[in-house]
Amino acid sequence: MRDETAIAIRGVRVIDPYRHIDSEQEEVWVVNGRIAPEPIKNLEAKVIDARGLWLVPRLLDMHVHFREPGQTWKETIATGSRAAAHGGITAVAVMPNTVPVTDTPELVEWVQMRGRAMGLVDVLPLGAVSVGSQGQELADLGRMHESGARGFSDDGKPVASARLMRAALSYAKSLGSVIIDHAEDPSLSEGALLHEGRMAHRMGLSAVPEVSEASMVWRDVLLAGLTGGALHIAHISAQDSLEALAYAKAKGYAVTAEVAPHHLLLTESVLEQWGYDPVTKVNPPLRPEKTRQALIAAVAKGLIGVMASDHAPHHADEKAQPYTDAPFGISGLETVVSSLITALIAPGHLTPLKGFELMTTGPDQVLGLRYPGLCAGAPADLALIDPERRWRVDPQDFYSLGHNTPLSGMTLIGQPLFTMVNGRFSMREGEVVDAGISQVS
Ligand SMILES: [Zn+2]
Repeated sequence: MRDETAIAIRGVRVIDPYRHIDSEQEEVWVVNGRIAPEPIKNLEAKVIDARGLWLVPRLLDMHVHFREPGQTWKETIATGSRAAAHGGITAVAVMPNTVPVTDTPELVEWVQMRGRAMGLVDVLPLGAVSVGSQGQELADLGRMHESGARGFSDDGKPVASARLMRAALSYAKSLGSVIIDHAEDPSLSEGALLHEGRMAHRMGLSAVPEVSEASMVWRDVLLAGLTGGALHIAHISAQDSLEALAYAKAKGYAVTAEVAPHHLLLTESVLEQWGYDPVTKVNPPLRPEKTRQALIAAVAKGLIGVMASDHAPHHADEKAQPYTDAPFGISGLETVVSSLITALIAPGHLTPLKGFELMTTGPDQVLGLRYPGLCAGAPADLALIDPERRWRVDPQDFYSLGHNTPLSGMTLIGQPLFTMVNGRFSMREGEVVDAGISQVS
């Protein structure tokens, strides 16, 4: 027993969507990296007094951009991993729009290996749908799948060709994998900087209507029906896209969707509050209040089963450019869990158990993962959250290299205090604890 490391988490409320459990005043033991079957007598343990806290299993953010290889001034796998740990996240799926694009098995393996070397978060690579995400030629999904790619996406760009999307869905089906859809009709969105509405008219800037997204969602829902392939709609943000989702559900198609926190917390009117600062520039753009309400209702109904940050960090100098030139994107890993609580759980749209499905069983199902929940023998991947704590977002406190977020200055409800991966704290009381097994850049 001497070599064993044991941690006892006392008085905690366990919210475990994997086992449909929400119970108060629990005592959870972690021994040698795993959840122990019961409190262990005669074993010295580090005790965490977790009264008033929530214990949730393995939070997965299935849509993040870590920018490595190629744009390491924006983010690296190391800094992104730290941001994840700080945000209470234990697993991330990383988008392949790196430089070069992750479109080969070698790059898929490399990303995975870099993630493991950091040891702070389970880095799940996604591969590109098309070679170089150029939308011309299907990438080698089969070999990337064998190398550990958890799904495929040309995210950042749509798959403009219906023929290519059809082929991708069929190919993914044969692999038991999924196509993640950045749904946007480029002929409608080209040059657009924001949502086609009140703010765009006032600013006189080129804008995109919701139809750009919704028409592509409809097309791809129909292709999912045609092929039987699994389709996941990324960052859904249009009212008519929700109609397409409902249609897919009624037809029994393998279609799922995710919503980004900023589309639930903010509307286009923040552009005015921010004095047209490009910190609000994101794709898909912030929408009007009516759309925000429709998205919340769709989550509450179970039509949308995933929340993902679409963490898109950029350097401050890039975001300091004029609205026309600044890149799209919000740095979201360190606010996503609090956003989930603030937007959905605290106002009562979802119970905590239902709410955390959006970052556990929901994305697991999309990516074909099988974490068992916090049962005896399971790897101790978990987060401890103070659900009452109100905190003001200050991007200077982020571990991410990207400090670009229009949530800056907002008060959010609920804050992750501890993150644990394989029984080891990756974040403790707000401080990231590096694994110390690799050189960190
Ligand atoms: Zn996207």
